[in-house]
Amino acid sequence: MLPRVRSAQLYEEAQQHIVGGVNSPSRSFKAVGGGAPVFMQRAEGAHFWDVDGNKYIDYLAAFGPIITGHAHPHVTEAIVRAAQNGVLYGTATELEIVLARKLKEAIPSLDKVRFVNSGTEAVMTTIRVARAATKRTKIIKFAGCYHGHSDLVLVAAGSGPSTLGIPDSAGIPISIASEVITVPFNDTDRLKLALERWGDDVAAVLVEPIVGNFGMVMPKPGFLEDVCRLARGAGALVIYDEVITAFRFHYGTTQTFAAFPDRAAIEPDLTALGKIIGGGLPIGAYGGRREVMAQVAPLGPAYQAGTMAGNPASVAAGIACLDVLAAPGVYEKMDAQAAHLAAGLAESASRRGVPLTINRIVGAFSTHFCDHPVTNYEEAQDTDGEQFARFFREMLERGIYLAPSKYEAWFLTTAHTDADIDATLEAADASFKAMAGA
Ligand code: PMP
Repeated sequence: MLPRVRSAQLYEEAQQHIVGGVNSPSRSFKAVGGGAPVFMQRAEGAHFWDVDGNKYIDYLAAFGPIITGHAHPHVTEAIVRAAQNGVLYGTATELEIVLARKLKEAIPSLDKVRFVNSGTEAVMTTIRVARAATKRTKIIKFAGCYHGHSDLVLVAAGSGPSTLGIPDSAGIPISIASEVITVPFNDTDRLKLALERWGDDVAAVLVEPIVGNFGMVMPKPGFLEDVCRLARGAGALVIYDEVITAFRFHYGTTQTFAAFPDRAAIEPDLTALGKIIGGGLPIGAYGGRREVMAQVAPLGPAYQAGTMAGNPASVAAGIACLDVLAAPGVYEKMDAQAAHLAAGLAESASRRGVPLTINRIVGAFSTHFCDHPVTNYEEAQDTDGEQFARFFREMLERGIYLAPSKYEAWFLTTAHTDADIDATLEAADASFKAMAGA
């Protein structure tokens, strides 16, 4: 057992002051058997060091944003320079234009953008804008997709809520939840039925175009095309939540992802962004078609504001992060390493007799302890959570840090080395062996 005495002490202390001892439920170890989470002290490249001095290879990447690895020199330098110039002005700055322009260049569906502070805010505001633009109230979302913790989207949300067995949060009025219609991902017929029934009231269909919140799940060929066609046929807008997916698989979003089967037909009206575009500092952004974005104050009647929005440090970190990602070969390397890792995990699990389904898209993949494909939330739920918890613990003991939930992905970063991947495969084989022998 790795010594984690200090983590245990800090957890005791944290619980006295911070609710549940963590500042986001997905950081707790509740879904993987409970107990003290690991308190990290330092991170560099693809590695973490905890408060007891243990070293880990990191596949959490802070739930996505840390795609360049921790403390990347270019990103760090940008943050330091921003801090030296004063971290917050409450005025317009030139750097905001630089990041906005970079986003627009990479995401052609954005005529205009607005920066906010989190993915939650970004999605929340796209919904407000869609409602303002259509003068309708209802939203269609897909079961298990997570869109942040605002009232409207915390209905049949995946990720944290499903991990903790809270399909719906307390504190959300029925009147609000009743404005949300949930249909299964990858199910065109059910979407069609929902639009036939409620179409005249639907402001937007909101989707993670590639799901990252009940594992990594690709849309079936034609599904996003159907989403766009059916939504528009009903007079509703299409919102893509690309908080996880933007700049994850290539320098852009799913909207221009070459591997996509139906890419020509999948441009949304509004896009929500976050995570990677802030290089690890708090950020969110949303944007879309000019006429739709003209709803937003000060141009239009839909209000959205923020003291911290577009803050110089986040914007500078985001620009630096995108610079790193724009270099040639970056995604190819993550793709090759993730392919090697996923293939090795599959081989090892199979040799040890542990059923495992892996969904991989470039440098991100999910491991589902089951012997069936995972294409929607129901199938992701129908996997062995106890096996995952055991695997998580075995890997942790061997210095591999995975997200503490069976629904979260493994993320490669530009900092992972081939030696990291080999060490991970060795740890995984020993973990599967221990599980098979149990
Ligand atoms: N949308 C998606 C697809 C996400 O995965 C998340 C966070 N995991 C969010 C929105 C919310 O982002 P944030 O945690 O920055 O509020």
